[in-house]
Amino acid sequence: MCAEHAAEVQEAGFACKRCRCHLAPEALANYNDLIETARACELRRRQEPSQMAKTAALVEALQAYLKALLLCSDDVALHRRAKALRARLAEG
Ligand SMILES: [Zn+2]
Repeated sequence: MCAEHAAEVQEAGFACKRCRCHLAPEALANYNDLIETARACELRRRQEPSQMAKTAALVEALQAYLKALLLCSDDVALHRRAKALRARLAEG
């Protein structure tokens, strides 16, 4: 974790454990795949007709974001997105 990324994420009120500056290329590729999966799930959620399918897509998106954050947690926007999805899930 570099000081620059740590400061940026902590300033936004989130925990940063690992930044992309110290990420192996395979881990970064994995991270990008997870983000892509999460975005696809969010898109699917909007198109699903039933509430149950919407919730399932939301859970899937959140899980992908959380897995991505375990690999690399230097992106404030990603923290915010995961937090927003978690809040929406809690609302039911
Ligand atoms: Zn960094």
